[in-house]
Amino acid sequence: MPVSGQGPYDDQNIFARILRGEIPSRRVYEDEWAVAFHDIAPQAPVHVLVIPRGRYVALTDFVATAPDAEIAGFFRAVGHVARELGLEQPGYRVLSNMGVHAGQEVPHLHVHLFGGAALGPMLVKA
Ligand code: 5GP
Repeated sequence: MPVSGQGPYDDQNIFARILRGEIPSRRVYEDEWAVAFHDIAPQAPVHVLVIPRGRYVALTDFVATAPDAEIAGFFRAVGHVARELGLEQPGYRVLSNMGVHAGQEVPHLHVHLFGGAALGPMLVKA
């Protein structure tokens, strides 16, 4: 279900196609709620995307409309992937872009996991 400020979910977006196996990806984890795979253009030594299996454009519609079990399952998967990739020590970054100002490119909710090196400032300083 779209949320104000977002378009409807597009079943042809790249991550929908990755979920259906129409486009290859280097998967690192999957369960009932989520799939994780390496970003095609990594911006850190470890750069993995975690996406829900459900049809959500971004965090906004996910938290507004997804069942509690799906929200819990998805965020548990994010934590699980970080742990399995050995990122908990010395740390990692989680980021999710939403909409135009954040530069969201793919309209299927995804969380970026960055790690493997000191990541620098959270935002590029003007
Ligand atoms: P956004 O800017 O929407 O937060 O991030 C989208 C991310 O998806 C980018 O980091 C981009 O490199 C990644 N990406 C785009 N197309 C593909 C693809 O076909 N495969 C994979 N694995 N990552 C992709």
